[in-house]
Amino acid sequence: MGKRKCPLCFVRVPWTAALAHSYEMRCPACHAPLELSRFTRVVGALGGLAGAAVAVEALPGIHPGSLWMTRIVAAVLVFGVASAAGVLLAGDLVVRTKGHPATFPHSAK
Ligand SMILES: [Zn+2]
Repeated sequence: MGKRKCPLCFVRVPWTAALAHSYEMRCPACHAPLELSRFTRVVGALGGLAGAAVAVEALPGIHPGSLWMTRIVAAVLVFGVASAAGVLLAGDLVVRTKGHPATFPHSAK
């Protein structure tokens, strides 16, 4: 967990590539097409939701008398930070498979 290594050649992929190009990143060594694994995406989403829930519940205790929209803004901001942290903590990469011909965005031949 958290290694962000290419499953083919075990070279570490930079964390900036894992966060910015989660669907279409390339291994820096073997240039294999990589993407985040399903586990990493689920951990990122759950981490973001948990962080947003904590922000919504904790903000009135930290800053009493704040506006109602402050809780929403805090939830959105904490969701972004916590989901990125979840992606970096899980950090599992898989080789991107070519799309199955039965999936929707298929090429017309
Ligand atoms: Zn590689």
